[in-house]
Amino acid sequence: MDKRICRQCQTEFTPEYASVVNCPACRQKNVEKQTRSRQTRILASGVDADTWTDNFDTEYPELVEQRRKHSKEFRETVQTELNTVLPWDVQLDVLDAVADVYIAIKNQTKVGWIQKVLNPDGVHYAGVSYADVICCSIAAACAAHSLDKSETFRQKYLEVLTHLNQKFGQNVTNHDEVLRDNALAAKRELERLGFPS
Ligand SMILES: [Zn+2]
Repeated sequence: MDKRICRQCQTEFTPEYASVVNCPACRQKNVEKQTRSRQTRILASGVDADTWTDNFDTEYPELVEQRRKHSKEFRETVQTELNTVLPWDVQLDVLDAVADVYIAIKNQTKVGWIQKVLNPDGVHYAGVSYADVICCSIAAACAAHSLDKSETFRQKYLEVLTHLNQKFGQNVTNHDEVLRDNALAAKRELERLGFPS
């Protein structure tokens, strides 16, 4: 077939069939652009919760690695500052929860870190789903282990609390008792740390 000029980039190319007006490189770019805008639409409107969880590690490996590094560092720093070794469940359930939400907030403009999900509806932070129900257990762990005597913990915890209070504070009137208690816990903790909401 005769060569022709690409309508998009004006380079010469040989079309595989008569109706082609753009060169292969431009066509490929257009497909990618369409896929991206489709993904952006899906991300904005929410994705199925199970699908999100199941695919998270394979779709966002860099994010998983960043999250892992950050929470390991956070655990070590906090325990060094407190000069103690915390029980394993406090490290995993409390320190990691603060670390995950914190790093998600810091990266929230990038895809994957904070994602709206459907069925059940919620928001996943750094791939995990418990941000709106973590305040009670963090508050209890703070009381039991004086976690906020660690300056690093205190700093990140304050940012997490402030964010959660902005995002889920309206749950203080929710009919769901768990959501309500956690929203109240966030407000109480902010007050206790000197930042009444
Ligand atoms: Zn072209």
